[in-house]
Amino acid sequence: MPTILGSTEVFRGRDSELHLSGSGLALVRGSVATEGAAWEEVAGAEVGSSRKAVAVSFVDGRGPWTILGLKPEEAAWAQALVAQGVARAQLYADPRLAQPLGLDAIAEAVAAFSALEPPEAAALADLLMVQAAHNRATDVHLQPEANGMAVAYRIDGHLRPVAMIGAEIGARVVARMKVMAGMKSYRRNLAQTGAATFPVAGRTIDARCTCLPTVRGEKLTLRLFDPAQALLDVSTLGMEKAVLAAFVDLLSRPRGCVLLTGPAGSGKTTTMYAALASIQAATPDRSIATVEEPVELELSGAAQTEVNRDVGLDFADGLRTALRQDPQVLMVGEIRDAETANIAVQAGLTGHLVFSTVHAPSSAGVFTRLTQLGVEPYLVASSVTAVMAQRLVRKVCSECFSAHVPTADELAWLGIGPGDLAGGTPRRGRGCDVCGGTGYLGRVGLFALLPVTETMRDALLSLQPMSRLEAIAAEEGVGDLWTAGLAKVSQGLTTVEELRAVLGPRM
Ligand SMILES: [Zn+2]
Repeated sequence: MPTILGSTEVFRGRDSELHLSGSGLALVRGSVATEGAAWEEVAGAEVGSSRKAVAVSFVDGRGPWTILGLKPEEAAWAQALVAQGVARAQLYADPRLAQPLGLDAIAEAVAAFSALEPPEAAALADLLMVQAAHNRATDVHLQPEANGMAVAYRIDGHLRPVAMIGAEIGARVVARMKVMAGMKSYRRNLAQTGAATFPVAGRTIDARCTCLPTVRGEKLTLRLFDPAQALLDVSTLGMEKAVLAAFVDLLSRPRGCVLLTGPAGSGKTTTMYAALASIQAATPDRSIATVEEPVELELSGAAQTEVNRDVGLDFADGLRTALRQDPQVLMVGEIRDAETANIAVQAGLTGHLVFSTVHAPSSAGVFTRLTQLGVEPYLVASSVTAVMAQRLVRKVCSECFSAHVPTADELAWLGIGPGDLAGGTPRRGRGCDVCGGTGYLGRVGLFALLPVTETMRDALLSLQPMSRLEAIAAEEGVGDLWTAGLAKVSQGLTTVEELRAVLGPRM
């Protein structure tokens, strides 16, 4: 008899075996296994007085096959088993597992799958991951609550509730995802991380998975990396023309530090990858090295190193060693300690083009942060060539937009003068099925590029405060994030409400 991988139950008739596997039922007759998704019909029949038969057939017309020679109690069991297999098979043939659904339809599908007897945790896990990718979610949260397991997706930066699953089946969905991510599913009191890949519509989505015990049970989150979304061209990120030209010019330089700043999730990594890809395309002979935590996207032709604190490989170590391997372009995920700051700034001085991110309240604040980390001001002034602040704002839905000129009251509340939008074509989304009723679809970057000019360099050397640096930037006509944002509103790409939500009230 051939073996059916992953089969959970078996019964044996006179000349056949029936296996219940993850994808439905498999019938084995002699040495031939017919593993099928979709069994349609189940029928029991008397064979003589003490023996029974069970007949099963596929939806696509194969069969019926009859399993002969069962004892009456076996026949009842077989019939129940076949019925169960049919439900499972129909579930796996269910288009809801593959086709894009809106959030309401996902909640309905979750309810339908949970109601199956027994509930199908594996299919439910698949459904939640596939639909997350279809809905452009960057994160999936499964969080135990008092009344069950709450599922939410982060879409365009906003966490949106998807469904509530019963506590028991919810815990099984978490266990299933832990197995897929290579975690120890039987350890429920540990913080664990793992990685999983799953196919969606012909592409492979990578998911970073973390699991943390909470007082109500395990909370699991998945961060999804969609290669189709991750590698963008610098010209598509949302930079205004002048900023784009200045940024592309920075990429062609042989040395210097280009530092990005902005809160977590503001698209800085995407911008750095786009910069590296653009450098590769323009000058394929430049050697590129990265030190990241984690590596979010594999860039062919670049030497990418992942920080691993468990073995003592931190940003500073990775960077120091990468520098000995003769790179011309370096990307460092984040500068957050004195050692990394000093090595990166030195590298920028000594003939390397360095990209990194620094946490600071504004572009000018990056300089202050570096000196706080113990980098000498003269090194900052001579090594850093530009600082760029970045945010992501949601785009007005391309399916349901209409013209919308904000009223004087709306503008006043936002701290905007009517002249700020003069000549523009502001738009607003009404809300439709495509955008899930939000009126927004996708996101675009806001960029404020602060180049280090002679005046700025002098100010840095004479240890001017952050406010003075900001004033110099304004005097030199460098636009801030509001300037970038209002341009996007004028172009009808985002709204003033979204600007205020992302940037706060305008000072
Ligand atoms: Zn819409």
